[in-house]
Formats: sequence, C-alpha cells, structure tokens
Amino acid sequence: MPTTYSHSRLSCFEQCPLKFKFSYIDKIETEIGETIEAFLGSRVHEALEKMYKDLKFQKLNTLRELLDFFNSEWKKNWNDAIVIVRGEYDQENYRKMGEKFLMDYYEKYKPFDHTRTIALETERTVDLNDKYKIHIRIDRLAMSDDTTYEIHDYKTSNGLPTQDDLDNDRQLAIYAYGIKKMYPDAENVKLIWHYLSFDKEMSSERTPDQLESLKKQIIGLIEKIEAEKEFPARVSSLCNWCEFQKICPEWKHKFKTEELSPNEYLKDNGVQLVNKFAQAKDEYDHLAERLEKIREALIEYVKKEKVSMVFGSDVKASIKSYPKLSFPKKYDQNQQEFFEAVKKIGLWDALAIVDVYDLSKMINNREIHPDLIKLLSKFISKEELFRVSIRKK
Ligand code: SF4
Repeated sequence: MPTTYSHSRLSCFEQCPLKFKFSYIDKIETEIGETIEAFLGSRVHEALEKMYKDLKFQKLNTLRELLDFFNSEWKKNWNDAIVIVRGEYDQENYRKMGEKFLMDYYEKYKPFDHTRTIALETERTVDLNDKYKIHIRIDRLAMSDDTTYEIHDYKTSNGLPTQDDLDNDRQLAIYAYGIKKMYPDAENVKLIWHYLSFDKEMSSERTPDQLESLKKQIIGLIEKIEAEKEFPARVSSLCNWCEFQKICPEWKHKFKTEELSPNEYLKDNGVQLVNKFAQAKDEYDHLAERLEKIREALIEYVKKEKVSMVFGSDVKASIKSYPKLSFPKKYDQNQQEFFEAVKKIGLWDALAIVDVYDLSKMINNREIHPDLIKLLSKFISKEELFRVSIRKK
C-alpha cells in the first residue's frame, strides 16, 4: 500500500525533523490551540469556498451575504484556546483583516465568470511511484478553456513572495503534477496565487521537464525522511508558532522555569548552572584575550632584543620562529592543478588523506545516502560529544 505524503508533511520535515516526528510519527496531541493566523486562513477559505460552491448552483452571494457568512463562522468557531502570538493585535484586528481580504477579492473578481470551477478544496491523491502517493489539496481548480487548467491558492499571510519564489514554489507545482496526471488533456496548467493581504494575483507555470524533476526531488526527500533515525530539532523563528514548543528539548526548560516563583527560579539547578557557565566563559574569554596580548608583546620583545629565551622570576619563555608555508585551499581555483603537481612529483600516495572532518559533517548532515554510509560503517566508531554554547535569550 503506497504511503501518502502531502506538501505540508514534507515542509514540516524540512522546517524541523523533530516537529515532524512529534506530529506525524508520535502523533502527539497538544492542548495548544491553533494560531490566529491559521484560524483567519480557515475562515477566509471557508467563505470563498461557499461563494464558489453557491455559484455552481447559479447563486451569486452579495458581498454583504459573504461577509455575514464569514462573521457568523468566525463567531461560531472562535474559542479562547486560539493563540495570538503577536500580542500587540487582538481578535478584532484579525477579523477585520479577513473582512478586508474578502471585500477586495469580491470587488476584483465579481461576477466570478472568468473561469469555470471544477473543484473546491480537493482531497485527491496521485501516485509518485509504486511506493509513494502525494496529496493534492487545491483551494479552487478551474478551467479557462478546454485544455487550460488553473490552480488557485488563497494566501492570507502578511508576506509577499517574489516572482522567483513562486517560480520555485513546490506546493502548487506538486498540484500541477497531479492535475497533469488526473487530466491528460491538460495542455497548460497555470499556478495562481491570491495574496489577499495585498489584493494581488501572481502566477507561474512549470514545464513537463520541471514537473518530472520535481517528482524525483520529492521522492528523494521522502526517502530521506524514511531513512531518518534521529529527527534532530532545528530551531528557527518559526518555533514561536510550533505547537510542540512546550515539550521540545530546545525550549521546555524555558517553559518550566517561567512557571516558577522568582525564588524558585533562582534556585533551579539549570538556571544556576547556565549562569555560572556564562560567567566562567566570560572570564575565560577575557583571560584568553589577555594571554594573546602578552604573547604578542613577548614576540615583539624578542624581535627587538634579538633573544629567543626570556627569563622571568621563576619561569622562562622560549620563543622560536618557523616558516609557515601556504598552499591552495579547498575552493581555490588552482587547487586541482596543485594536486596534479603533487601527483607528478610522486608524493600523492604519501600525502593525500581523506578529510574526515568534512566526511563526518556530510554524514551528520545526512548529505550521504544511508546505503553508501553502510559501506563505510565498519570504519566508523561513534561516541557522544557535547558542545555547550551560550547565546542571548
Ligand atoms: S519548537 Fe522549534 S525546534 Fe522544537 S520541535 Fe518545534 S520547530 Fe522544532
């Protein structure tokens, strides 16, 4: 039975493998409600879906009817668990944004007869190969003529992408792949985004070759997901919108300590240790800086005095100079030519070594296919190392 993936599932893994694990493997239910941004998006999508559904039955909603529907659904679905991350705005600001999106859209496209709607909020899947399927969820699928299909997507976010972003967008391109498979007569498939915050329509298209290479990329990504064993956390600004923040190892200590009284907070072992570590690190950095300055002064001193040993009260310092040779580095244009020269003088076998630092980085970053790593596995020994770094909160 093929496994079904969706664009949001793939994006979740790319955003943070740990979030993917919490969400799709462990299937953890959180008590945290949806964000106001997601709530607003759902209400606007519902209103536009209703409008186009009614149009199929020759019923054109007035703008007033559309807004009434939006507001009544807003009221019906609102609950206090909905999270407003940006504290400076309230529910009313977001509701008015939704109304504005619908008013602008309505005025721009009425009487909505430019295209013929085929389907709304589709729930289809198409095969990528015999192992994987991809979910096709299109806000509105329409036809502008017999062989031209249009994939319409409503965006309620506050950012406007560039044309380049859209020409490389994966979500609608996946849907275009699906439409071509479902409707072999589709000669053209237009990808159309409605950026409702900006009352702006943007579009793009994909060639058959681009869709074929997209399919391969997606299969590659799915294979990477299925081979993943560790699901590391990837911290980013999107963590603020992550429903698993409270159980995520990157953030849960913060939430735990926020619940403590000021007294309990200062007694928390973690708080005390990190404060001590930061202080010690600060002292260490100052000391390292001081040491370097004294070292430089000593070098100046021996150069001036033409000595190589300097005597203190009960210690002496030896200062020796030696020539430092430099050769072309990685990514230097002439590095390959340099390697050829080393081979020519017969020293390659004696000197060439595998860059194991880069190799471990590639393995840790999952840049090497697991089957290839297996071939190296008998040479790899693994131990757990820790790096402690300090950042401002
Ligand atoms: S809070 Fe951030 S790092 Fe943690 S699971 Fe969510 S997205 Fe990943």
